[in-house]
Parts: sequence; C-alpha cells; structure tokens
Amino acid sequence: MTSSQTRHLISALAATGLAALLAACGPADKPYEPSEDDGPEAAAAVEYEGVPETGFADESPAAGEDPDADPDLAAEEGHTGEPHEHGSGELSVTRDEDFLTLTLDAPLANFGVEEAAPPSDTEAEKYAEGIAEPMGPTSCEENERSVTTRVDEGGHSAMTISVVWRCAKIDRIEGLRINAFSLYPGFHKIEAVYLGPDGQQAAQELTADNAELDFD
Ligand SMILES: [Zn+2]
Repeated sequence: MTSSQTRHLISALAATGLAALLAACGPADKPYEPSEDDGPEAAAAVEYEGVPETGFADESPAAGEDPDADPDLAAEEGHTGEPHEHGSGELSVTRDEDFLTLTLDAPLANFGVEEAAPPSDTEAEKYAEGIAEPMGPTSCEENERSVTTRVDEGGHSAMTISVVWRCAKIDRIEGLRINAFSLYPGFHKIEAVYLGPDGQQAAQELTADNAELDFD
C-alpha cells in the first residue's frame, strides 16, 4: 500500500467512525424526547458520570447513547465510533514518510472538563500538550497540533486531538507512549490502532498500566 493509499484509508476510517458516531447519536434536528431524562437510563447515566466502570457500557446504554439508534449501524462500527463513553478514548496513529500523526478522540469528561460548556478549539489546544511521545532511538519534533471540540447528544461533548511529529530517522520509532492516563486520571482505556507506511497494522487496548502502543 502506498503512503497516499494509507492516508486515504485513514480518512475513510475517520469518516466512517464519525458517521457511525453521528448515527448513534441521532440526527441533530431530532425532536427532544423527555423520556430520556425521566426514564431509568437517565438514573444510570447520572450514576455513570461519577463512577466509570470497565464493562458497564457492554451491559447498559452508556451516557449519551441513543437507545433508538439503528442496531445494524452500531454493529458495523467495530471499535471505532462507539457511543460517547466516559473513561474511554479512541486513538489512531499513522506513519507517513517522516511524519507520525496521532488522532485521539475522547469525551471532555476524561480531561476533567465540564461537558455542558465545551471550550473553544483554541482554548482546548492545551490538552494536546504532552499527550503522547514517540519511542525509539531517534529524535522527533512536534510539527503540528490541533484540537477540535464538539457537542454530542444529551449535553455531552468530546474533543479530537491531533498531533503530528517529524522524526529524524522514523524507521527507528518503535511505538508511542500515551501520557493521557497520567495527565488525566479520567482516562481508563484507549482503543488504539497503528497503521504503518506499508500497510502494517497493530491494534491494542491501552490502559494506565499498559500505555505504550507498539508498532509491531
Ligand atoms: Zn459525556
């Protein structure tokens, strides 16, 4: 696979994830449904706010999940585009020529940020600072950094962090150490995927005790 194909694949994956997420959250112009705030899910969601538990979302609707979402769509998503789940994040890392690109998507709550009043993209940029670092016997310099915040359903909001490094001898890069867990204790797990320049792929579930994404 060529670099441009890889890039295209990443865009496609990102678009799919986003589309699935939007589908899961329902259209923006959907009429307000009071039952969501009055029903048993609302109580569960409130409980979940403060006490994220591994596996909770497997059994019950996560906070912000639309119970009316098309189950077929949800099933097709795989690990990308999962409903807004506090404590969880999704990471993709790609290598292209001399560049390493990180994309991390997670609820604002993971960063200890009030979701009801999401910060602007500029205000949120500080959360990209030191979020991860390339591992290996060469040097990399941060080349680009950006953060985009968005509002999810039910008063929830999330952000997507993007960081690009340029590395002197990128062949020597062995992986990426994720500092999100130590910087922001609201992070419990990150589903991570690496896509290399020749079609290499690696997928890992990262946690505070296993915070390094190995590229092979
Ligand atoms: Zn939330």
